[in-house]
Amino acid sequence: MNHLFTPLGLEALQKLAQAKALLAFDYDGTLAPIHREPSRAHIRRETESLLTELAEHWPLAIISGRSLADLHTRIPFPCRALVGNHGMEGLGLPLEEAATLTALWHAELLELCKDFRDVLIENKTYSLSVHYRTSLDRRQRKTDLLALFDRLQPRPRLLPGKFVMNVVPPGLPHKGNALQELLAAQNCVQALFLGDDVTDEDVFALADPRILSIRVGHHLASQASFFLQDQKEIDLLLRHLLRLPTSESS
Ligand SMILES: [Mg+2]
Repeated sequence: MNHLFTPLGLEALQKLAQAKALLAFDYDGTLAPIHREPSRAHIRRETESLLTELAEHWPLAIISGRSLADLHTRIPFPCRALVGNHGMEGLGLPLEEAATLTALWHAELLELCKDFRDVLIENKTYSLSVHYRTSLDRRQRKTDLLALFDRLQPRPRLLPGKFVMNVVPPGLPHKGNALQELLAAQNCVQALFLGDDVTDEDVFALADPRILSIRVGHHLASQASFFLQDQKEIDLLLRHLLRLPTSESS
């Protein structure tokens, strides 16, 4: 993993600007700083204004773990595509079975977690996010939750996040599949993808030569090619992209 603002990273960005590249972003921890209460996370004003300007020159997309309905209320700049629920919602797939399963798991987990007052179960219709950020012993709570998830049938796909476990129906597209789908749908030959978490590794692990993968925060085990030091560096990246001559302008 190299820092993005090194000669290698800057060269990759320059190449991207010359292609018809899609700029795709995760939301929480990437565009928006993580908030203790997930409902209160929002994009900083400066980031928002840079994205608004960027949208005039580049196709933008958001691929998030949030529900699509939630994302729609949070994205004030023009986006070509919004994809929710870790890559499965917004691509026109039939999701009735996922909704039925999620409702079933939700009822089951509400019962199983009733003694855990520090656990918040967020129902996103097609998947659940089980937050334990406010727990005083997060390690223990995570162990407790994993034992409970073991009891769910069929076995969910578990996507760990930052003090959240995402409980996802198996066999549906992940963020990597969604981005490849968007590349085709938007008629783009390259993409940049920026994410910060385990669910974003589904994109990084594709090792698709068309995708420039960037992680927010260095992590030895990540398969992203580049990293930004922290979430605040997002504005530096957006400003840099705005300065690059694109295929339209050259
Ligand atoms: Mg994230």
